[in-house]
Amino acid sequence: TTTAPPELAVRDVTVRFAGLTALDGVSFTVAPGSVHALIGPNGAGKSTCFNVLSGLCRPASGTVTLGGTELTRLAPHRIAALGVARTFQNIVTTQGTVADNLMLGRHALTRAGFTASALRLPGARREQREHLARAREIAGLTGLGAHFDTPVGLLSYGDRKRVELARALCLEPRVLLLDEPVAGMNAAERARTAEVVAGLRAELGLSVVLVEHDMGLVMRLADEVTVLDFGRPIAHGAPDEVRRDPEVLRAYLGT
Ligand code: ADP
Ligand code: MG
Repeated sequence: TTTAPPELAVRDVTVRFAGLTALDGVSFTVAPGSVHALIGPNGAGKSTCFNVLSGLCRPASGTVTLGGTELTRLAPHRIAALGVARTFQNIVTTQGTVADNLMLGRHALTRAGFTASALRLPGARREQREHLARAREIAGLTGLGAHFDTPVGLLSYGDRKRVELARALCLEPRVLLLDEPVAGMNAAERARTAEVVAGLRAELGLSVVLVEHDMGLVMRLADEVTVLDFGRPIAHGAPDEVRRDPEVLRAYLGT
């Protein structure tokens, strides 16, 4: 059998902060249309890895490539434009309506540019309508369809946190990086979000890198799992292989 070349490839990435190696020779690949989970105890380096992938943190060594294009030294907006979008661990939107937030997410894609939009030129108006229609679709895909014109401050916590996911999708990414997408959610909200993420890969063919502490969610959604501990990759494989790995159990249970 032939396997498709990876959509995203992380090779031997090392990140050092003063006196601390946050990532130590981390490598993994993400196949097109697959979900790759990155797990590990607090402080393992998961968010730092996302910072490298999105250009917010420059590694001391190693490379990141997207479909063969090297991202390693590009600015965050360039990486986003090439198709890598992320959510942040602790951001929950509080301002504006769902539509407002998604249209902000679309802004990076606006061809006509800010001046034409501000002058309400006809081309810009048509483009704006198209963006609004797509934002509405994305709201539908993320379970926010009924709340498109609702101020996010009036939404439940779970819905509000999913606005962040929807905003990232507005970039039309090839690869979506989700940093703890169900943190703080109740069981029903978690189940809803899991459904949404499963749908994204089915309907949009997106590749997803998932950082998440909820093992049930990881086991359900991930095709492959990489486990980090103190910045080092300690295990890699299918979810139920990794779950039984003695080193993984040791890292999690501290035995
Ligand atoms: P995780 O997301 O897996 O919980 P992080 O990537 O946030 O872990 O952090 C990994 C390690 O790097 C931690 O020890 C953290 O304190 C440290 N760290 C993260 N960002 C910085 C930074 N900007 N400066 C210094 N240390 C950092
Ligand atoms: Mg983190």
